[in-house]
Amino acid sequence: MPRFVIHKHAARSLHYDFRLEVDGVLKSWAVPRGPSLDPREKRLAVEVEDHSLEYGDFEGVIGEGQYGAGAVIVWDAGEYRDLDEDRSLAEALRAGHARFWLEGRKLRGGWSLQRMRGRGEKAQWLLIKRRDEGADARRRPTSTQPESVLSGRTIEQVRAEAR
Ligand code: MN
Repeated sequence: MPRFVIHKHAARSLHYDFRLEVDGVLKSWAVPRGPSLDPREKRLAVEVEDHSLEYGDFEGVIGEGQYGAGAVIVWDAGEYRDLDEDRSLAEALRAGHARFWLEGRKLRGGWSLQRMRGRGEKAQWLLIKRRDEGADARRRPTSTQPESVLSGRTIEQVRAEAR
Protein backbone atom coordinates (compact mmCIF):
# COMPACT_ATOMS: atom_id res chain seq x y z
CA MET A 1 0.00 0.00 0.00
CA PRO A 2 1.20 3.55 -0.64
CA ARG A 3 2.29 5.76 2.24
CA PHE A 4 1.03 8.98 3.69
CA VAL A 5 2.87 11.37 5.96
CA ILE A 6 1.76 14.42 7.89
CA HIS A 7 4.60 16.73 8.86
CA LYS A 8 4.00 19.38 11.50
CA HIS A 9 6.07 22.35 10.41
CA ALA A 10 6.82 25.45 12.46
CA ALA A 11 7.81 27.74 9.59
CA ARG A 12 6.88 31.43 9.52
CA SER A 13 3.45 30.19 10.44
CA LEU A 14 2.69 26.79 11.95
CA HIS A 15 1.02 24.35 9.57
CA TYR A 16 0.73 20.68 8.74
CA ASP A 17 2.06 19.27 5.46
CA PHE A 18 -0.21 16.52 4.26
CA ARG A 19 1.58 14.16 1.86
CA LEU A 20 0.32 11.21 -0.18
CA GLU A 21 2.57 8.85 -2.11
CA VAL A 22 1.40 8.97 -5.74
CA ASP A 23 3.44 7.69 -8.70
CA GLY A 24 6.75 7.70 -6.83
CA VAL A 25 6.53 11.15 -5.22
CA LEU A 26 4.82 12.70 -2.22
CA LYS A 27 1.96 14.89 -3.44
CA SER A 28 1.79 17.65 -0.84
CA TRP A 29 -0.60 20.19 0.64
CA ALA A 30 -0.03 22.75 3.39
CA VAL A 31 -2.94 22.60 5.85
CA PRO A 32 -2.81 25.63 8.19
CA ARG A 33 -5.13 24.17 10.84
CA GLY A 34 -4.25 20.51 10.34
CA PRO A 35 -6.66 17.64 9.76
CA SER A 36 -9.94 17.41 11.67
CA LEU A 37 -11.89 14.28 12.58
CA ASP A 38 -15.14 16.25 12.33
CA PRO A 39 -16.79 15.89 8.88
CA ARG A 40 -18.32 19.36 9.32
CA GLU A 41 -14.89 21.01 9.55
CA LYS A 42 -13.49 21.60 6.09
CA ARG A 43 -9.81 22.35 6.31
CA LEU A 44 -8.08 24.52 3.73
CA ALA A 45 -5.23 22.63 2.03
CA VAL A 46 -2.96 24.61 -0.28
CA GLU A 47 -1.18 22.51 -2.88
CA VAL A 48 2.60 22.79 -2.70
CA GLU A 49 5.44 21.21 -4.66
CA ASP A 50 5.91 17.43 -4.76
CA HIS A 51 8.48 16.03 -2.34
CA SER A 52 10.63 12.93 -2.65
CA LEU A 53 9.55 9.75 -0.87
CA GLU A 54 12.71 9.93 1.26
CA TYR A 55 11.64 13.31 2.61
CA GLY A 56 8.71 11.58 4.29
CA ASP A 57 11.04 10.46 7.07
CA PHE A 58 12.58 13.88 7.61
CA GLU A 59 12.43 15.30 11.09
CA GLY A 60 14.65 18.14 12.25
CA VAL A 61 15.27 21.81 11.64
CA ILE A 62 15.44 23.51 8.24
CA GLY A 63 18.08 26.21 8.58
CA GLU A 64 17.56 29.96 8.51
CA GLY A 65 17.56 31.42 5.03
CA GLN A 66 16.32 28.17 3.47
CA TYR A 67 12.85 27.64 2.10
CA GLY A 68 10.53 26.54 4.91
CA ALA A 69 13.05 27.41 7.64
CA GLY A 70 11.90 26.02 10.99
CA ALA A 71 11.35 22.78 12.88
CA VAL A 72 9.61 19.75 11.37
CA ILE A 73 8.28 16.57 13.00
CA VAL A 74 6.51 13.54 11.55
CA TRP A 75 3.17 14.12 13.24
CA ASP A 76 1.51 11.06 11.69
CA ALA A 77 2.41 8.44 9.10
CA GLY A 78 1.12 5.18 7.75
CA GLU A 79 -0.45 3.71 4.67
CA TYR A 80 -3.51 4.67 2.70
CA ARG A 81 -5.99 2.98 0.43
CA ASP A 82 -7.68 4.58 -2.55
CA LEU A 83 -11.47 4.56 -2.06
CA ASP A 84 -12.20 5.26 -5.71
CA GLU A 85 -12.59 2.04 -7.67
CA ASP A 86 -13.09 3.62 -11.08
CA ARG A 87 -9.88 5.59 -11.40
CA SER A 88 -6.42 5.85 -9.91
CA LEU A 89 -5.64 8.36 -7.19
CA ALA A 90 -3.47 10.30 -9.65
CA GLU A 91 -6.44 10.60 -12.02
CA ALA A 92 -8.73 11.57 -9.17
CA LEU A 93 -6.34 14.33 -8.09
CA ARG A 94 -6.11 15.62 -11.65
CA ALA A 95 -9.91 15.74 -11.71
CA GLY A 96 -9.91 17.63 -8.41
CA HIS A 97 -11.63 15.13 -6.15
CA ALA A 98 -9.91 12.23 -4.38
CA ARG A 99 -11.20 9.88 -1.67
CA PHE A 100 -8.90 7.71 0.41
CA TRP A 101 -8.68 5.75 3.63
CA LEU A 102 -5.82 6.54 6.04
CA GLU A 103 -4.28 3.90 8.29
CA GLY A 104 -2.05 6.05 10.45
CA ARG A 105 -0.92 5.95 14.06
CA LYS A 106 -3.25 8.82 14.93
CA LEU A 107 -5.60 9.16 11.99
CA ARG A 108 -7.82 6.36 10.76
CA GLY A 109 -10.70 6.51 8.33
CA GLY A 110 -11.77 8.10 5.09
CA TRP A 111 -10.89 11.62 3.98
CA SER A 112 -11.61 13.58 0.83
CA LEU A 113 -9.56 16.20 -0.95
CA GLN A 114 -11.69 18.54 -3.04
CA ARG A 115 -10.14 21.20 -5.26
CA MET A 116 -11.86 24.56 -4.97
CA ARG A 117 -9.73 27.11 -6.80
CA GLY A 118 -6.70 27.21 -9.07
CA ARG A 119 -4.50 24.50 -10.55
CA GLY A 120 -1.10 23.12 -9.63
CA GLU A 121 0.97 24.78 -6.92
CA LYS A 122 -1.05 27.15 -4.71
CA ALA A 123 -4.33 25.56 -5.79
CA GLN A 124 -6.80 25.65 -2.90
CA TRP A 125 -8.34 22.38 -1.80
CA LEU A 126 -10.46 21.29 1.14
CA LEU A 127 -9.44 18.32 3.29
CA ILE A 128 -12.61 16.81 4.74
CA LYS A 129 -13.18 13.84 7.04
CA ARG A 130 -15.68 11.41 5.57
CA ARG A 131 -18.62 10.15 7.62
CA ASP A 132 -17.49 6.75 8.87
CA GLU A 133 -16.45 5.08 12.10
CA GLY A 134 -13.26 7.15 12.20
CA ALA A 135 -15.23 10.41 12.38
CA ASP A 136 -15.31 12.04 15.82
CA ALA A 137 -16.37 15.63 16.44
CA ARG A 138 -14.86 15.66 19.95
CA ARG A 139 -11.43 14.12 19.53
CA ARG A 140 -8.76 16.67 18.52
CA PRO A 141 -5.52 14.79 17.92
CA THR A 142 -3.67 17.93 16.79
CA SER A 143 -4.16 19.23 20.36
CA THR A 144 -4.07 16.07 22.45
CA GLN A 145 -1.35 14.20 20.52
CA PRO A 146 1.15 16.88 19.47
CA GLU A 147 4.18 14.57 19.47
CA SER A 148 6.10 12.92 16.64
CA VAL A 149 5.19 9.34 15.77
CA LEU A 150 8.86 8.76 14.88
CA SER A 151 10.60 10.04 18.00
CA GLY A 152 7.94 11.01 20.51
CA ARG A 153 9.32 14.56 20.53
CA THR A 154 7.24 17.71 20.26
CA ILE A 155 8.10 20.34 17.69
CA GLU A 156 9.29 22.60 20.54
CA GLN A 157 11.71 19.89 21.72
CA VAL A 158 13.08 19.42 18.20
CA ARG A 159 13.61 23.17 17.87
CA ALA A 160 15.25 23.42 21.29
CA GLU A 161 17.60 20.48 20.66
CA ALA A 162 18.85 22.08 17.45
CA ARG A 163 20.12 25.19 19.25
MN1 MN B 1 5.64 23.09 5.19
